[in-house]
This record gives sequence, structure tokens and C-alpha cells, in this order.
Amino acid sequence: MANPSLLILAGDGIGPEVMAEVKKIIAWMGDKRGVTFDVSEDLVGGCAYDVHGTPLADATMAKAQEVDAVLLGAVGGPQYDELPFAVKPERGLLRLRKEMDLFANLRPAQCFDALADFSSLKKDVVAGLDIMIVRELTSGVYFGEPRGIFTEGNERVGINTQRYTESEIARVARSAFELARKRGNKVCSMEKANVMESGVLWRQVVTEIHDKEYPDVALSHMYADNGAMQLVRNPKQFDVIVTDNLFGDLLSDAAAMLTGSLGMLPSASLGAPMANGRPKALYEPVHGSAPDIAGQAKANPIACILSFAMALRYSFDMGDEAARVEAAVEKVLADGVRTGDLMGPEGGTPVTTSEMGAAIIAAMDASL
Ligand code: NAD
Repeated sequence: MANPSLLILAGDGIGPEVMAEVKKIIAWMGDKRGVTFDVSEDLVGGCAYDVHGTPLADATMAKAQEVDAVLLGAVGGPQYDELPFAVKPERGLLRLRKEMDLFANLRPAQCFDALADFSSLKKDVVAGLDIMIVRELTSGVYFGEPRGIFTEGNERVGINTQRYTESEIARVARSAFELARKRGNKVCSMEKANVMESGVLWRQVVTEIHDKEYPDVALSHMYADNGAMQLVRNPKQFDVIVTDNLFGDLLSDAAAMLTGSLGMLPSASLGAPMANGRPKALYEPVHGSAPDIAGQAKANPIACILSFAMALRYSFDMGDEAARVEAAVEKVLADGVRTGDLMGPEGGTPVTTSEMGAAIIAAMDASL
């Protein structure tokens, strides 16, 4: 059987720095676990603009459509701020998401015990937290028509439209139920069915998909405003949360902050299954290109490394290897290894990006 294929788009700023550590883990998987990937690399964002005059060349887009998974670092930087909108680095990322039709955005919020003090919430509320927010990414109020700023009488009116079709709801619901089966087997669906018709339909469709196809998964429903409160009050009550584009945008950012640093947060965006049964997939850290620390060996590579662990679990069905990477991250944090972004008020000497990567690989070696 052919090796699983990966396209690496390291991008700009700290993107290549954190991706260098992921590449070492990919090589380790080949050497120590006999898990070999066919890896290709290409440009996205500002670096692609510098070479091709566009943040994502057509040939790169075509490659992304063919591989089993895309791993992206970060895009952007102040030197590109004045570019026209159509060629800004972020357009490269948006094109990937759109043309791959990545409708389910997975944002885990996981709190490593060693970092529980970093949360703005009390330690016992977040220690051991492990939840997953599944946000619908390609429809809803950010895309619905009509939209625009119009004139009515003698004043302006701003209009956006929340619109969801049954099939758009069904496919993201299926993603959430499938994920729940690989985790704690529990889904909480959030909408505002009390005040929005799109929320009424959302609740109906999620319930129908559940009853017909996933009766083994525990399903509950919550109004999204209550969901926001519950996330802060008692986040550990959740396993998988599924919600629309707008509510998911807010809830996933709030959940991210339960866990501390931006340098720790991975994400995945999944689309429809390909011919080989794997979903179209893009994995990337939540953080950006961090121009303020780029080139200084200060970046925390963990968000990018955990994004690769998500690829192992969700694209390649290698949950054991994903758990090995995650356990290694947990071990180095417990041992007190810290990049600058993870230094507490007590201070200490931060490690460099590659020292953090090396510590994680040493912990993986020790796990064999
Ligand atoms: P950012 O995420 O790049 O940085 C915010 C802060 O967090 C900075 O102080 C940075 O040093 C720190 N930080 C981020 N990641 C870190 C890591 N791995 N280790 C240590 N510290 C880390 O957000 P920003 O400063 O608002 O944006 C910078 C550039 O990145 C902009 O051009 C923006 O458009 C772009 N951006 C890209 C993405 C993406 O590629 N997905 C996401 C957000 C922002």
C-alpha cells in the first residue's frame, strides 16, 4: 500500500521554525515506528507571493487537493500589510479552506496539568480539561446572502443573513458524531433555537442524524448563550461541542483561553471523505506568524506538533501514535521544560524552539 501523503506548507514568520520541529517528529516516526509518510513541501502566504506573485500558486492548490493531509505553519507579516486584498498572505489560507471545502473546524481545548496555572480560571476547573469544539466553517452568517450595507430612506442599514441548508447541518453533525466515537462518545449541539429559525432547523437535523446514524452517541442540546456560560463555569462537562460558524467562532476562542498560551493550540479543518475514505484535511496551529519573535528561536513548536498529532489521529487512524506525541508533550511540560511564552511569574531560563522539539523527541524515545 502507498505511504500516506503529507503536503507541508510552512509559510511565514515562525511557521518554518515550528514546522522544522514537526519534520523531526515525522522522521522519528519513520525511523522508530516504521510509519513513513510521503512528504512534499511548498509555499503559502507571503513567501509564495514573493516567488509567484500570489499567496497560493495553482500548482500548490492542486497538490493540496491530492494529498491525504496538508500541514500548515502560519502566514502573514508586517511587510505584506500594504498588499492589495486579493494577494494578502491570508488569502492563500482562505483559498485552501474554500477549494478543499473544509466545512468542519476542530478546535481542541486541552489543559495540560503542568500549565493549569496559566488559565484565567481556577486550576481545579481546568486541570485535565479535554474538549473539542466542532465549528461549521463554510456557511452561516459569514456567507449568507443578502449581505451588504444598503440605504433605506435616509439611513444606512447593514445586513448579514444566517442561512443553513439541511445538508450543511447534516455533514458537520456527522463529523461531530464520528469524532465523539473516537473520544468520550458525547456530543452537545449549541444554537439559539429559542429565537432563530436556523437554530430550530439545526436542532432538528442534528437530532435526526443522531437518531438514524449515531444512536450510540449521547446527544444533548444547549442554547449557545448558556453554552458560553457553561464553558466558563464547568467546561469539563463537555466532550464534543458542535455549533455553527458564528457561535463556533466565539465559543472556540473562549475555550482556547481556558488552556493558557496561544503557542499550545492546534486545529484541524476537515472536509468530505476522499476516494480512500480519508477526509480532506488541513492541520495548523491556531497562532499566526508571530513577527515579534520570528527568527529568534523563541517560538513554541507545541501547537504545530499537536496539529500533527491531530493528523495522525483524524486522517491516518493512528490514535496510538498521536497519544504517544501528546504524552511526550505532557511529560516535557511536567518536567518544567518551557519556551518563553510558558514562563510563569517565577521566571527561569526558557528553552529554544529546537530544544523544546528535542525534549519532546527524547520523551518519545523514552516511551518505546
Ligand atoms: P500571532 O498569533 O502571530 O501572535 C500573537 C502573540 O502571540 C505574539 O506576541 C506572538 O509572539 C505570540 N505567539 C504566537 N504564537 C506563538 C508561539 N508559537 N510561541 C510563542 N509565542 C507565540 O498573532 P498576530 O500578532 O495578531 O498576527 C501576526 C501575523 O500573523 C499577522 O500577519 C496575522 O495576519 C497573521 N496571522 C496568521 C494566522 C494563520 O496563519 N493562521 C492566524 C492569525 C494571525
